[in-house]
Amino acid sequence: MKNKKYSKLIILGSGPAGYTAAIYAARSNLNPFLITGINKGGQLMNTNEIENWPGDFNKITGPELMNRMYLHALNFNIKIITDNIIKVDFKNKPFVLNGEKYTYIADAIIIATGASPRYLGLESEELFKGKGVSTCAVCDGFFYKGKEIAVVGGGNTAIEETLYLSNFVKKVHLIHRKSNFSAEKILVSRLMNKIQEKKVILHLNYTVKKIFGNVLGVNSILIEKIKLKEKKEKTLAVSGLFVAIGHVPNTNIFIDQLKIKNGYIQVSRETHGNYTQTSIPGIFAAGDVIDHVYRQAITSSSSGCMAALDSERYLNSIKL
Ligand code: FAD
Ligand code: NAP
Repeated sequence: MKNKKYSKLIILGSGPAGYTAAIYAARSNLNPFLITGINKGGQLMNTNEIENWPGDFNKITGPELMNRMYLHALNFNIKIITDNIIKVDFKNKPFVLNGEKYTYIADAIIIATGASPRYLGLESEELFKGKGVSTCAVCDGFFYKGKEIAVVGGGNTAIEETLYLSNFVKKVHLIHRKSNFSAEKILVSRLMNKIQEKKVILHLNYTVKKIFGNVLGVNSILIEKIKLKEKKEKTLAVSGLFVAIGHVPNTNIFIDQLKIKNGYIQVSRETHGNYTQTSIPGIFAAGDVIDHVYRQAITSSSSGCMAALDSERYLNSIKL
């Protein structure tokens, strides 16, 4: 039997949404617990530069920003617990969360479990995960210094990772399944400069078909041109593949408990308050886990703030 811990309000997740919710809840004297999950600090821990966090114009790294949010939460004496929730029971009140270390009981919960990188779904990708296939250039890029590598994707993450890696690898092959990018224009124009410098080679309208290698890791990939009547394939001799094709919301443990649409937790989006309430009163959700459109640090923080205000109103209404 695991030890039980109780708090009026428990927040799941230590990304921008979770920390912001915790700071607001602490200022309302709700004494929340914040459970970090496996990825303390969330997705921004994997990025090198943040240029769009208002007030921080002197480039700040993701880990620096998240450490500041952590210290800000500590400053309000928020109980930050390193644990990962594996099962929940929202069918009865108070709500129960089963963690790897403890069992938690709460009257209200804010889910801010964010999202995890999407993979291509190839069998060969499974074989080489951690041995040449990576979803984090900042974490693994160092191993490819002076080598030729590939990045797949056409959004902000793919372009940022390409730009970052091109500073120290020999060459980056950027593979994208369309002919235009969804990334921000400022990033695309930086990419064009790198293409002119011949540090980046573009493979537009291509998909990755297979990854090859041996015990030492990846040594090549097969890519296939799409939108062509005849098949056109190319083999690229690369020692690493960075997969940057978006993210999937972390909602598996809530599937039989809450209303979920296309993987995202549904919230009321009520325009007169209570925007972040899920299908169960007392359970709120914020950040990338409810958002398939904006998915930014600032939008996650702002919905974290809303969830804290909504949960305060809820806790007042049930008069514990
Ligand atoms: P996340 O940051 O995903 O955090 C989720 C948290 O939930 C984690 O702490 C995790 O451990 C926890 N968790 C998950 N499951 C559980 C569980 N079962 N139990 C307990 N805890 C759990 N946005 C910008 O605005 N500017 C940028 O420059 C920028 N750069 C980016 C670069 C990269 C490489 C990536 C991938 C994203 C970037 N983004 C950027 C987007 C931004 O990172 C996300 O929008 C933001 O982190 C979402 O915050 P969040 O708090 O909702 O979730
Ligand atoms: P994203 O914006 O969803 O882009 C995913 C990219 O991968 C798209 O180009 C998509 O192509 C492609 N893709 C998806 N599935 C694929 C598959 N199976 N095979 C090949 N390609 C596939 O994801 P993201 O770039 O990770 O960004 C996620 C969020 O974080 C966004 O909101 C982004 O703005 C934010 N972010 C912000 C910054 C910043 O502010 N500097 C940096 C990084 C991320 P299609 O277009 O064809 O679908």
